Amino acid sequence: MTVPARHADRPHADRNHAPRRTDSAVWRPFTQHATEPPPPVVTHAAGVHLTTDRGVLIDAVSSWWVITHGHRHPPIMDAIRDTAEHLDQVIFAGLTHAPAEDLANALVGLAPPGLTRVFYSDSGSTSVEVALKMALGFWRNTDRPRHRIAVIEHGYHGDTIGTMSVGERGVFNASYEPLMFSVDRLPFPRGDGAGTLAIFETLAATGEMAAVIAEPLVLGAGGMLMYPPEVLAGLRAICDRHGVLMIADEVMTGWGRTGRLWACDHAGVAPDILCTSKGLTGGAIPLAATLATEAVFHAHWSEDRAKTFFHSSSYTANPLACAAGLANARIWAEGGMQARLDAVGAMQGDRLDELARDPRFANPRRTGTIAAIDLRSDSEGYMAAVGPRLRAHALDRGVLLRPLGNTVYVLPPYCVTAADLDAVWGAVASFAD
Ligand SMILES: *Cc1c(COP(=O)(O)O)cnc(C)c1O
Repeated sequence: MTVPARHADRPHADRNHAPRRTDSAVWRPFTQHATEPPPPVVTHAAGVHLTTDRGVLIDAVSSWWVITHGHRHPPIMDAIRDTAEHLDQVIFAGLTHAPAEDLANALVGLAPPGLTRVFYSDSGSTSVEVALKMALGFWRNTDRPRHRIAVIEHGYHGDTIGTMSVGERGVFNASYEPLMFSVDRLPFPRGDGAGTLAIFETLAATGEMAAVIAEPLVLGAGGMLMYPPEVLAGLRAICDRHGVLMIADEVMTGWGRTGRLWACDHAGVAPDILCTSKGLTGGAIPLAATLATEAVFHAHWSEDRAKTFFHSSSYTANPLACAAGLANARIWAEGGMQARLDAVGAMQGDRLDELARDPRFANPRRTGTIAAIDLRSDSEGYMAAVGPRLRAHALDRGVLLRPLGNTVYVLPPYCVTAADLDAVWGAVASFAD
């Protein structure tokens, strides 16, 4: 295998030299090929473990936040295997199938009250695009054309042009800025969030606001930034006063991540539109759903075909994915998950408390199973150089981490043990900056 030159000491690879050819034809996600070494090859996944050609890793980031119960969770793999015996992809306009119907009913049963309609797509980004289109369609179809969208500073909703538009702008999307639409940005809520809510109230009162979109309680890619449930309840109250639609992007926070099934549950809040993906199938296979209230659905229900909700993806409601989702929904409906979430939260809390005493770290924070802390470092923010070094350090110790700049977070599958977490947090603590 040809190993590409590492330019760690030359962060800007020489433009006059063509990149080295390597054995891999793959252009990797969020990866600077000029400076990153070739990745380990994964051959087996089970529980919290990934077996690679360089040893076994603990997956402390749940494979980019998608794996909930653990890798290859048996009931979910069984559902995929069984469904593959009699179904593959079938067109979902004009036809239906049991996995999609049963999962939709299960989702309505598990979701915050009032969300009665389920629109399927295939990724978190798409579920957000669908939510934004539903919101704009709602206002146009009811002859009150509102089109402003309010968003929260440091938010992340995906990497398509539309979802980047409602997300934080920065080095990672500067090239595409000319293509993005304008939105109204609310400052990230500090303390009780009164400042943020006051600004939102003023914007909402203009009567032009179609919707507000927020990641409830935890802004993931923005740096695992956390705010209290009261702020979410405050947003809901303002939406109610001014008829603004509330979109909850639960793509990362859903399925127990924050210690309850939905982050919205902490605030007793039901959004008008809810996006779910990552943990929807336990992370085994891609699927997304955008849930909407009867009012949002009804705005698109008309003898006038121009009011149709014009959206589809080729793989809408893939039967294998829906079967996996249904197996996952049944696990949550059984009710045994709360004790597991509480246990993971407590174990994370203990280890975070310990690290918080270390002067090299700051801002320890936790919501449910998600724990994060910042490394004090000369450079901060997403491009902080310390991130890749900590990632390499942990990898050498058999731990898969993916710091967001100088923010280290641990977001494990729920089957994680105390010993696993000791290894993970030990790898963080042993990192000498
Ligand atoms: C990951 C994420 C998305 C995008 O999901 P993809 O499946 O990667 O398109 C959207 N919103 C939030 C909050 C996310 O964390």
